[in-house]
Amino acid sequence: MPDTAWDLVTARTADLRALQGAITLLSWDQETYLPPKGAEARGEQLAALQGLYHEKLTTPELGDLIARAEQDPLTPALSPAGGEGAWQAALRALRFERERAVRVPDRLVRELAKLQSESLVAWREARAQSRFERFAPFLARLLTLRREQADALCAPPGGERYDALLEGYEEGMRVARLEPLFKRLTGWLAPLVARLAGAAQPPDPLAGQRFDVEQQWQLTLEVLQVMGFDGEAGRQDRSIHPFSLGVDPGDVRLTTRLSEKLPLSALFSTLHEGGHGLYEQGLPAEHRRTFLCQGASFGLHESQSRLWENLVGRSLPFWRYLLPRFQARFPQASGAGLTAFHRAANRVERSLIRVEADEVTYNLHIVLRFELELGLMRGNLAVADLPQAWNDGMERLLGVRPARDAEGVLQDIHWATGDLGYFPTYTLGNLYAASLFAAARRALPALDDDLAAGRLLPLREWLREHVHRHGRALPAEEIVRRATGRGLQDDDFRSYLETKYGALAP
Ligand code: ZN
Repeated sequence: MPDTAWDLVTARTADLRALQGAITLLSWDQETYLPPKGAEARGEQLAALQGLYHEKLTTPELGDLIARAEQDPLTPALSPAGGEGAWQAALRALRFERERAVRVPDRLVRELAKLQSESLVAWREARAQSRFERFAPFLARLLTLRREQADALCAPPGGERYDALLEGYEEGMRVARLEPLFKRLTGWLAPLVARLAGAAQPPDPLAGQRFDVEQQWQLTLEVLQVMGFDGEAGRQDRSIHPFSLGVDPGDVRLTTRLSEKLPLSALFSTLHEGGHGLYEQGLPAEHRRTFLCQGASFGLHESQSRLWENLVGRSLPFWRYLLPRFQARFPQASGAGLTAFHRAANRVERSLIRVEADEVTYNLHIVLRFELELGLMRGNLAVADLPQAWNDGMERLLGVRPARDAEGVLQDIHWATGDLGYFPTYTLGNLYAASLFAAARRALPALDDDLAAGRLLPLREWLREHVHRHGRALPAEEIVRRATGRGLQDDDFRSYLETKYGALAP
């Protein structure tokens, strides 16, 4: 019997996924073990594979095959991922990726890739010298190209340019939903920050001491193990900026950051990246050759890391479990009690740097970036005025004003790579995390006792069942709706913060 259109589509999709895996692995190596003299060749290897991937994805034959498979009664159902036709979802995901790739002309893809690597170099220099003017011309050019790209992608009906970029990270999300949501969020966060950051800060029981990095490393491995991260389906390594990458559910790469003076930094990095890693390991491996075996969106991915880092990792029950283990490795910390540690892990401060921000102030950093990105994309804000707008925004939202661009507008890598539309997904992740954790708590009445005993598998199983196993079979918000009974909202996040910080208040 000849191959059906579906057989031919799946063979091509399997190739695309294999190429993605190889690209992912080479990128991981680039950030971890690649010797400096291999950098130039690695750039060429990645560009060649990415070019091949783009060519195979955009070839007109694949478009024809997808159209035929969609009509073909012989297209079989895969084993159901979300309880409904997985093959339809697999085709939809493939079509979505392909259409976005086809719409952008090759010339623009190449120009963007070239400009991104040049901008990255310029941004690193600009940040080191704290001179925005060094980076500004690159950002202006990136904006022009990204606008052009957004126009090629076409804004969704009733939407705007920014939506077309946003959709590259969060399928189906719109500015029209984010603006009122972020406004509401800011409305109740600002007074909460004023109350918490204005109160006297507890002393840091770890300040001024040194912590053996090998012991830190062992503790992070212990934490990964209790989380249920499968050591035979992934590994952890070290890097300056922690990250996680999924090559396959059977091969998930994490990194953590070790700093002699900041032992909690390694712990929270590992919990964060471990959360991403559990999501990748829990994806439906039976669909690994299709686009279903992927996270549903950047926001949902971030919800998994935030849930482990903050809702588990910064909770009092978990510290009951962790503190004796921490003190066994670091006797110099044995004098401090549970409350002191828990408070130190939950300080609320008006700070300049997003990646160091606590969970109360964090989203205000995102609101600022979202407002500025919208201004840039809509043409209401000129690149030259960006540092001033940034500093004014920080003062308005967070009550602090950066003295240097390195601590302000130049702090994040995202704009250097042209990633406009990415930032909002961090806040979506925080909101989804709170909703999912509240639902898990309702389903698992012994959750606090489990956390205090280091029994994290029931929570991992709940997440696997309600989030991970769907892969990309459903839209992110629909996964959350089915798991929690509600779509995107900030109520759960609000009651989480108010309950937690109400109890913590001195
Ligand atoms: Zn993350």
